[in-house]
Order: sequence, then structure tokens, then C-alpha cells
Amino acid sequence: MFPASFGYHAARSVEEALDLLTKYGEDAKLLAGGHSLIPAMKLRLSSPSYLIDLGTVPGLGGIRIDGDALAIGALAVHADIVSSDIVRRRVPALSDAAGVIGDVQVRNRGTIGGSVAHADPAADFPVILTALNASFVAVSPSGSRTISVDDFFVDFYTTALAPNEVLTEIRVPLPPSSAGTAYHKMAHPASGYVVVSAGALVNRDASGRCTTARIAIGGLGSGPLRAKATEAALQGQRLTVDVTAAAASKAAEGSDPVDDIYASAEYKQHMATVLARRAIAGATKK
Ligand SMILES: Cc1cc2nc3c(=O)[nH]c(=O)nc-3n(C[C@H](O)[C@H](O)[C@H](O)COP(=O)(O)OP(=O)(O)OC[C@H]3O[C@@H](n4cnc5c(N)ncnc54)[C@H](O)[C@@H]3O)c2cc1C
Repeated sequence: MFPASFGYHAARSVEEALDLLTKYGEDAKLLAGGHSLIPAMKLRLSSPSYLIDLGTVPGLGGIRIDGDALAIGALAVHADIVSSDIVRRRVPALSDAAGVIGDVQVRNRGTIGGSVAHADPAADFPVILTALNASFVAVSPSGSRTISVDDFFVDFYTTALAPNEVLTEIRVPLPPSSAGTAYHKMAHPASGYVVVSAGALVNRDASGRCTTARIAIGGLGSGPLRAKATEAALQGQRLTVDVTAAAASKAAEGSDPVDDIYASAEYKQHMATVLARRAIAGATKK
């Protein structure tokens, strides 16, 4: 299948990309790795008249520590996140999540910014970034704003980004050394997309009691779901096998998934409890 014809602009700066977005309005789409947008255009699910390529904008990639956060450029590709020493040392679950996305080609072309802006309910980054309490820096002609992850994912393929905004950076608070992170996924065997997944950030005090737990589940709805009943059941507890299992058994509470060709709703909810248990156990291993 071929996409409908379109004009192409290689932006040289964020400002130029913003000018072009303002000029063309809803007729234009930003292009990053193209691994979600181009297939959608080939299927004629999306037919923008203009593509504004961010791949030619210098300085939009890179991964660095900035104060108490990991700052990841929106154009960082999945493979950059897998191979980054900083990510592996400080936020290993983010590296694990990036490493199970698609295949080698997808990981070398797809960007973290494109993934979160696309907001596919079967994507990996939205889930782990929810567990990690990330935030998103968006720039528009009127300035820059930071959007918290709990406000960012709005619905299927819909985020809080306005049509005239460019996502420039993803910020992940650096977990304290007493905290652990983990990500587990049941993947579709052909594409690698999420059928169900779970991400966890767990911190404990010196006595071993849980002081922070953020648990996110993917595959049960229109976007990542905070497993709040699980988080509440972990709070203040020593995380024994029994406590972890009891908390994880609540991971699908409040969800309303649908049956699809990959799994029944009931099976997805069951797998959410299994993967949540593994993710909590992984985050409390040390
Ligand atoms: C075969 C295959 C398997 C895959 N498997 C998985 C998987 O297992 N898990 C997974 O999570 N994903 C998977 N993906 C999706 C992949 O990770 C995509 O690369 C990603 O979702 C989109 O990133 P991109 O850089 O390619 O974005 P693009 O396709 O270029 O853009 C996607 C959307 O985001 C917008 N956009 C891009 N960058 C910005 C920005 N900086 N600011 C604002 N808007 C922006 C674009 O306008 C577009 O609407 C798979 C894709 C393929 C083709």
C-alpha cells in the first residue's frame, strides 16, 4: 500500500518545526522514526498533506542526568535507551522495556518521543514511564510546559499534547538508591506489541517497609492504568512473598478490558496480576 501524496519538510530547528506546524495546522504531522506514522499513512488511516521531519533537528536526542532527573531527548531511539549505561545503572526497568520493543529495526529507528506521542495502548514506554512518574516537556510558539505522566495519556492514541506542540524531552526522576524498578511483558508473538505488561517502582526504608510503590499496567484499557489498589496494599508493608502476591492480585481492579484476537478480557486481567507480582518482586530483589 502507498500513502497519499504529501509534502516533506526537513526541519533544522524546533523553532522551524513550530513555524511549519503553525503554517500548515492540522494538515501537517511531525515525523520522528516513522515506525508508527508511515504504516498508518500506508493504510490511509492518516493522510497528512505535509510531514515535518524532526530527525534533521540537532540536539533533540541524547540522554543525560539533569539535577535529580534523567533527561531523555524525544529523538533518542529505543536502542539508545537499551545501550545507555546511565539508564541501565539508574533506571534499569526503562532499559528493559526499551529492549523488548519490536525487533532490532524498530529499536534502531523508533524514538521514545514518537512512541509516547503516538500513545498506542499496546506500547511499552507509556507503561514503564507511568510507573516511573515521568514528565514530558512540550514546546509551542507560546513557550514550554511540563506535563506529568498521569495527565499525559488521555485516551487511545490521544495525549495531552496540543497540535501545535513539539515534545522535546522526557524526564524521569532518578529513583533513590534504596529503590528498585522492573518491567515485565506478555508480548504478541509476531509484532512484539504488549498484550499485557506491568511496570513497578518500589522504595523501602531501612527496616524494609515499603515507602513508595507505583505500579502501572498496560493492555487493559485505552492507556496505562495505575494499579492503585496494589500500590495501597504495598504501602507500609514488609514485602514478603505473601504480601506481594496479595497486593498483585488487585492489579486489575477497576479495569474493563475487552476480548480481542490475542486474549480474553478475563485472561488479560489474570495476566495483569501475574506480571504485577513479577514486577514488584523484580523491583525488590536487592
Ligand atoms: C513491526 C513493529 C513492531 C513494533 N513493536 C512495538 C512494541 O513491541 N512495543 C512498542 O512500544 N512499540 C512497538 N512498535 C512501535 C515503535 O516503537 C514506534 O517506533 C513508535 O511507536 C513510534 O515512534 P516513531 O519515532 O517511529 O514515531 P513516528 O511514527 O514518526 O510518529 C508517531 C506519532 O508521534 C508524533 N510525534 C513523533 N515525534 C513527536 C514529537 N517529538 N513531538 C510531538 N509529536 C511527535 C508523530 O506526528 C506521529 O503522530 C512497533 C512498530 C513496528 C513497525
